[in-house]
Amino acid sequence: MSVDYDVTVIGGGASGMMCALRCARAGLRVLLLEKEILLGRKILVTGNGRCNFTNINASGDKYYGDGKFAETVLKIFPARACLKFFDDLGLLYREEGEGRYFPITGKSASVNDCFAAALLFAGADIKCKCEALKAYKAEGDFKVECSDGAKYCSKFLVLACGGAAYPQVSGSMKGYDLARSFGHKIINPRPALSAIDLKENAVSRLAGLKLYCAASLSDNPQQREEGEVTFGAKGVGGNNILTLSRQAQSGDKLILDFMPQFSAAEFKALLKERAAKYPSFKIKELFTGILPAPLYNLLMDYAGLRKNTLLVEINDNIFDRIVSTVKGWPFTVAGIRSFKEASCTAGGVSAGEVSPERCESKLVKGLYITGELLDIDGHCGGYNLQFAWASGYSASEAIEVEYGKSNSKKNKGS
Ligand SMILES: Cc1cc2nc3c(=O)[nH]c(=O)nc-3n(C[C@H](O)[C@H](O)[C@H](O)COP(=O)(O)OP(=O)(O)OC[C@H]3O[C@@H](n4cnc5c(N)ncnc54)[C@H](O)[C@@H]3O)c2cc1C
Repeated sequence: MSVDYDVTVIGGGASGMMCALRCARAGLRVLLLEKEILLGRKILVTGNGRCNFTNINASGDKYYGDGKFAETVLKIFPARACLKFFDDLGLLYREEGEGRYFPITGKSASVNDCFAAALLFAGADIKCKCEALKAYKAEGDFKVECSDGAKYCSKFLVLACGGAAYPQVSGSMKGYDLARSFGHKIINPRPALSAIDLKENAVSRLAGLKLYCAASLSDNPQQREEGEVTFGAKGVGGNNILTLSRQAQSGDKLILDFMPQFSAAEFKALLKERAAKYPSFKIKELFTGILPAPLYNLLMDYAGLRKNTLLVEINDNIFDRIVSTVKGWPFTVAGIRSFKEASCTAGGVSAGEVSPERCESKLVKGLYITGELLDIDGHCGGYNLQFAWASGYSASEAIEVEYGKSNSKKNKGS
């Protein structure tokens, strides 16, 4: 089989498009294979359809699996460089707090459109609805066999197949199978960044509420994640909950602080002041304007408070019980939602077998592995896409260097 391309990229998602575009711009003959009908299908659903494409605070401590690997990759292509890259690509964007960046159009599709135009202009060959079924190395080149019967041959191969999360929009196990076929070890893929189900049936009484809370797990009270928590019939979601879900195990306590803006002493003082002001009011008035009705009704049942109690009758012990519940309500984790509802995959290709400087396999020369396929997953808030872009960029840099070397050898030889 003759060599058709310099590089084949399997997976037209975030990291694959980045790698393919940079290689094509450097003059390499690039083939980009995508099993779905269009590039970047998963990007379309990111950030609730608005694509939180990077976070200026991206650094190794925002990643699980192998934070050091992530740190090295992010040094090569930090979030600032990412913003510059998207500037050049023609995407207008804005910051929306906590370092999170979104396209100004409010549409994820703008990211895909910018890439699609740039890839076309750079001359990359794009084949959608074309799944790579088998890939191997023979006689120094990579061969890829596809679902449409086509076979391709190239000098370099990039596995940018993403993870198993969100199978309804392109997530799959295919990339792990391909990496395994090259001898790579796969750390058990499991859902991350997913809603947490709670054992307490009473949580259904809070369904529909969105409350600003600090959340932590009993095993790791130091990691307090603040943000808006959304309550559903069976559990909780929201960016901070998704970030914690990576560590949550059935039986753990999920501690919610419904008043993170106050210390316990401040909150108690506030309640006492109110009780002193309205001594003849009933206990419910203590919470009016402070907690929404479904929450204070549940609180009164949970803390064993009688509805007819007058504010004047509340003693110090009861104030303490209220404060400790509102500022540290322990719910019990039943489990985390499946891949179908997860935004990311924990586990994947063991990062120890891949060079962080180049995203190149340490087992097979010329093979590169990028993005979520690796055993690296980030917090919620633009960190996963930042890692995907950065790893695709790092692989493209390494490929360009290798390509340059092999060409100069050829020229010297001729
Ligand atoms: C609902 C949701 C919301 C999210 N929101 C955000 C967010 O706002 N910010 C953020 O940073 N991250 C977000 N993420 C995570 C982010 O989308 C991923 O981490 C990121 O897209 C990973 O990039 P990737 O290149 O590794 O894989 P992907 O972008 O998933 O791309 C992989 C591509 O490879 C293709 N593929 C797989 N196997 C084959 C094969 N054998 N042959 C051909 N093609 C193949 C897939 O179809 C897919 O298109 C979200 C994820 C989900 C599911």
